[in-house]
Amino acid sequence: MTVRVRLEIGGIVQGVGFRPFVYRLALEHDLAGWVFNHAAGVTVEAEGEREEVDAFIAALREEPPYLAAIDRLDVSFIPPAGDYDFRILDSAGGSRETLISPDMATCADCLADMRNPADRRYRYAFTNCTNCGPRFTIIKSLPYDRPRTTMAGFPMCDDCAAEYHDPADRRFHAQPVACPACGPRLIFTDAAGKELAGDPLELAHGALRQGNILAVKGLGGFHLCCDAHNAAAVEALRRRKLRWDRPFALMMPDVETVREYCSLTSEEEAALTGPRRPILLLKRRTDGRQLPEAIAPGNGRLGVMLPYTPLHHLLLEQWPALVMTSGNISDEPIVYEDGEAVEKLSGLADFFLTHDRPIFRRCDDSVAVYAAGSLRLIRRSRGYAPEPRPILDCGRSILACGGQQKNAFCLTRGGKAFLSQHIGDLDNLPTLDSFRREIGYFTEMFNAKPALLAADKHPDYLATRFAKEYRDADKLIYVQHHHAHLASVLAEQDRYFQPAIGLIFDGTGLGDDGTLWGGEALIGDCVSFTRAAHLLPLPLLGGEQAVREPWRQALAAAALAFEQVGKELPSELARDWPADWPLLLQAGRAGINAPLSSGLGRLFDAAAALCGVCPFATYEGQAAVEFEQKLNEPTADEAPPDYEFDLLESDECLILDWRPLIRAMIGDRLNGASPSTLSYGFHRATARACLDLCRRLREKSGMNDVALSGGCWQNVWLLEEVCRLLDEAGFNVMTNRAVPCNDGGLSYGQAAVAAACIKKGVL
Ligand code: ZN
Ligand code: ZN
Ligand code: FE
Repeated sequence: MTVRVRLEIGGIVQGVGFRPFVYRLALEHDLAGWVFNHAAGVTVEAEGEREEVDAFIAALREEPPYLAAIDRLDVSFIPPAGDYDFRILDSAGGSRETLISPDMATCADCLADMRNPADRRYRYAFTNCTNCGPRFTIIKSLPYDRPRTTMAGFPMCDDCAAEYHDPADRRFHAQPVACPACGPRLIFTDAAGKELAGDPLELAHGALRQGNILAVKGLGGFHLCCDAHNAAAVEALRRRKLRWDRPFALMMPDVETVREYCSLTSEEEAALTGPRRPILLLKRRTDGRQLPEAIAPGNGRLGVMLPYTPLHHLLLEQWPALVMTSGNISDEPIVYEDGEAVEKLSGLADFFLTHDRPIFRRCDDSVAVYAAGSLRLIRRSRGYAPEPRPILDCGRSILACGGQQKNAFCLTRGGKAFLSQHIGDLDNLPTLDSFRREIGYFTEMFNAKPALLAADKHPDYLATRFAKEYRDADKLIYVQHHHAHLASVLAEQDRYFQPAIGLIFDGTGLGDDGTLWGGEALIGDCVSFTRAAHLLPLPLLGGEQAVREPWRQALAAAALAFEQVGKELPSELARDWPADWPLLLQAGRAGINAPLSSGLGRLFDAAAALCGVCPFATYEGQAAVEFEQKLNEPTADEAPPDYEFDLLESDECLILDWRPLIRAMIGDRLNGASPSTLSYGFHRATARACLDLCRRLREKSGMNDVALSGGCWQNVWLLEEVCRLLDEAGFNVMTNRAVPCNDGGLSYGQAAVAAACIKKGVL
């Protein structure tokens, strides 16, 4: 019997070869009808024998194209229309509900084309197909069609047009399709932007060989690139970028090469080679191939990614490892426009390896680490954005503005949360511009008019100020920083109204009592919370400056620890501190410029600096990173240092008192204990304090679920140890995976709080 069905399909179904796939499938099943791409998704009408139609629908569901993600497939039976063939109709506008695919790494088929001397795309740096290539970074507006991308300026040649229109071809309706005859081309210029004659790739390899620094145009912006084995080049890059200690990311040609430097599990290998290609933080091999110290000073891990564009593949042909760090000036966002590149990067790069396909929006590399049994995003950007995460559907669109550091905002529509790419630290104008502009694009692209805004309670966060000035929404909800972190974990688990114990550990964040929080045990769900416990607050001597100078935390912590037992500070300690420390301490005691902070990040600063690790930091969280790297578990015949926090019972709130721990650490240090032993002792005490605290709160509240969030959980040792201890004690532990536990995931939590409050009717 002949039947006709109409299918409405939503999800990531554009720019991923969906129509050609439908077309081929329809031919296989001998169906007539059409497929139509529109802003709300894809509509199919198919007519044929009942069994064939059923098989067609089943295949659509079960084996969609590689990059597609169907989240809606509605089937309705309609009267047969007597079509005699199957056609692909042209796209049209309409109400916008389609999702945009993230940029995806070059696929194996395209790589094979590039390596085949007989292929017209042999060694062509812009090879792509419906399964791979740029998407998010070249799309100006929807529906996704070539004229609405930065490929608009490249009319297809006859060969490319034939592939583009051939439903049987892998490049059928691949919008960025191009070849050497019609597509973008590589350009090699000097530092002033003047094009140099010769083969750009050969010139680039030559320049790298001579130890030069190149600015290389990638998918979402420019990288600064040099030979990772050339210590002088790496150090020059550090000097020019004024980036002293923060590790540089590396690009390596393939997994086999990565294995020469790093140990690699099969899960890590899968993450490295997958189409999203994040930078993965991998353990260095002590017996492996070594790189200059300046690549990642004092760090036991290397940030490594594999090539993700054809240009990267060509560039990596001659090198085991290239430094690939974002092309930007200090804390400004990554440079992505050609004009801007010469203006801003000419002092940093000796040459430019660029091309004439414009980048429409910037998008930094994503960063991930495999820890405690899961891949965890530390920065969710290229390869992930703007793919939505599920979120509670509260019937209204929410714009959550995120935090001040590592900003990424979050726009919701229905049950989808569109997290932006990494925007950066909102403390300079270019980053703020980028934040505003992307918010504009997101509301336009995803056709969402936010009715509700969510922002951090900190009045000085620029994202919060932006929210206050945003005129189009009806309401603005302020979400406490650590509550947002807690909610980000709960929302990942799709639980909004079941409370849990949240161990929320980070650097800073404004608390409900006006002090800085960050070592908190909260009990709550996405709607509300109570503060059940916190770290004993530490004064930040000199305010903000203390964050950059961990020795100040060391001083404050040591002073309070010895004061508690009525003792003087051991004079040997002061050797590590600048001579004016007594003045600073005095000012702190008088409460002058010494805000209180219960942040665990600050206690890590103190502990690290007390062990002589990182008294001065050049990037946020450096002391904690280096302190973790120092950690060495003691051998079987060594007695592990047995430090402990006190758990003080006060009226409404438990207090984790670190003073006995700090005293014991100082005692051991003065007796000659090594930083690695001290680091182990501190980490172990912190992990055990988490367990004790959760046990106590379980006794009090009967609650068995624990959520871990906040930037401190990027500490792999701490995360794995606390998960293990809590697991053994029978707790159900929840952690961030898909969104960062640091402030990059804050906006997702803010959106979850706002959605839950609306759903519960408390807003
Ligand atoms: Zn491909
Ligand atoms: Zn062509
Ligand atoms: Fe935070």
